[in-house]
Amino acid sequence: MSWTTHQVENQVPPLANYNLYGSDAVLRSGLQRSPGIWHEAALERLGAELGDPEVMRLGELANRHAPELVTHDRFGQRIDTVEFHPAWHTLLGMLRRAGLHALPWFDQRPGAHTARAIGYYLHAQVEAGSLCPTTMTFAAIQLLKGEPALFTQLQQKLFSCQHDSRDLPWEHKESILLGMGMTEKQGGSDVRSNSSRARPLDGGGRGGAYTLTGHKWFFSAPMCDAHLMLARTDNGLSCFFVPRWHPDGSRNAIHIQRLKDKLGNRSNASAEVEFRDAWGIMVGAEGRGIPTIIDMVNHTRFDCVIASAGMMRQALVQAIHHARHRSAFGRMLAEQALMQNVLSDLALESEAAALLMLRLAQAFDQPDDPLEGMWRRVLTPAAKFWVCKRALEFTGECMEVWGGNGYVETGPMARLYREAPVNSIWEGSGNIMCLDVLRAVERDPEDFARMLAQLEQDAQAHAGLRALVASLRDYRNGAGAPQEMLARRFTQRLVLAVQGVLMLSHAGAASAEAFLASRIDAECGRVYGTLSTAAVQREILDRAWPL
Ligand SMILES: Cc1cc2nc3c(=O)[nH]c(=O)nc-3n(C[C@H](O)[C@H](O)[C@H](O)COP(=O)(O)OP(=O)(O)OC[C@H]3O[C@@H](n4cnc5c(N)ncnc54)[C@H](O)[C@@H]3O)c2cc1C
Repeated sequence: MSWTTHQVENQVPPLANYNLYGSDAVLRSGLQRSPGIWHEAALERLGAELGDPEVMRLGELANRHAPELVTHDRFGQRIDTVEFHPAWHTLLGMLRRAGLHALPWFDQRPGAHTARAIGYYLHAQVEAGSLCPTTMTFAAIQLLKGEPALFTQLQQKLFSCQHDSRDLPWEHKESILLGMGMTEKQGGSDVRSNSSRARPLDGGGRGGAYTLTGHKWFFSAPMCDAHLMLARTDNGLSCFFVPRWHPDGSRNAIHIQRLKDKLGNRSNASAEVEFRDAWGIMVGAEGRGIPTIIDMVNHTRFDCVIASAGMMRQALVQAIHHARHRSAFGRMLAEQALMQNVLSDLALESEAAALLMLRLAQAFDQPDDPLEGMWRRVLTPAAKFWVCKRALEFTGECMEVWGGNGYVETGPMARLYREAPVNSIWEGSGNIMCLDVLRAVERDPEDFARMLAQLEQDAQAHAGLRALVASLRDYRNGAGAPQEMLARRFTQRLVLAVQGVLMLSHAGAASAEAFLASRIDAECGRVYGTLSTAAVQREILDRAWPL
């Protein structure tokens, strides 16, 4: 006997079977402008793969079936391992095949950072937890390149595009992943408070072997083949390469105490670990642990920007898709004037976030250009502060477009919303980022003045934007150097000025005008959906998500 439910009406078909790259006008024109255009065919393929409903389901599975800690084997021996759903490893395999763990390091063609950033942005739309070990590996390569003896041994395994999930000493693996351990119970932002100790085994110094004793309070992706960790020697905080396995073939003494029970980022394991006489090699100069690891952190911060912008994009297209298929009061939601205002405002924010990410990628693509260096130093923390924070409210608003269906775990919106805050917290929380912006400006006032001059030139065509950029200069001149208490205010203004210039240069005319009018207007911006009547133009949504 068959039994069916009643006729189901007015539910929205799932958004799948589309090319995440091909359907994104902002990314495509961004890549066209970049020398990274050589990567376009690969991004087309990746965009199609990620739009496959089976792949989208992997993201769901990896987060629904969270990793589990297994401290001992059945014989009572410590193994300190974490078991993952197979979807997790499939996702890591995809990231690896796409080269998102190392592309600009193994393919140094111009524009490689932009090419990678776009691929990373695409993956973030499907699953964000697996980005964590990918990012840490990517950033660690930058650091390890400065240690030729160690890097020569690791290079091939770091560059490999095959994921190897086996828990073996790194020497026996096809490829390896690296993590990062800084945060301790007594302090994460203030890593100078690290209390873990390192003792030299054979004289010590750079490249020397040490034993480490202490703990790490947040230690993500503990199954990585090695972590870069901070610990204190008699000469101050230093950085160490600490493998999962000891060179004698036993497990290194890194004991996983428990896994964090997290709000989001559930596919990824984040552990608390203690170690007693764990074996490690010093990387970088003794006592220079923070400057050594900061080089790595700049890359991880940029990845937070990319991931947040990517999640905003996914939330946006899901919201527009929903509004175009769901009706209320006799009309599609997308045809209702107030919903058009909300969606248009969200589309502007998403485009501005993507353009900021692409601008920052351009700065990473030109490591030898001093002015681009200034953009990188100022814009990395500024964009990390702004985009990651905007993503919180943004994903919440997109969830609301879905109504009640947005709030439940059977769709993607709840996961995007729960995932958003972590990018704002880790790798330096909001205040720390804004203080970093001030430091960068104060350290190189002349370079900052050159950066502002470039912005002023690009803002020429728009009176309001010109005034905004000028106010940035006046603000510094009038009140002296920007003060700590006003760091968020200063950073907000700076980012809006940069985004304004980028929208003016690269967005469609309607989008640029609407963005500038609304972000300069004090009436707008406290919530989404407060654009003026004139600003809400059909082109904005058509550009964001073509029918
Ligand atoms: C899911 C997850 C995974 C993580 N994984 C890792 C990892 O793998 N490795 C690792 O090392 N860390 C990791 N972290 C830790 C993370 O980097 C820290 O939580 C973060 O840097 C903040 O440090 P804290 O938690 O000690 O907060 P605190 O340093 O105590 O900061 C608390 C608040 O005070 C603010 N604050 C601090 N100083 C100032 C100041 N001078 N002025 C104004 N405000 C200030 C901060 O912005 C923040 O909002 C992870 C965190 C999370 C949530």
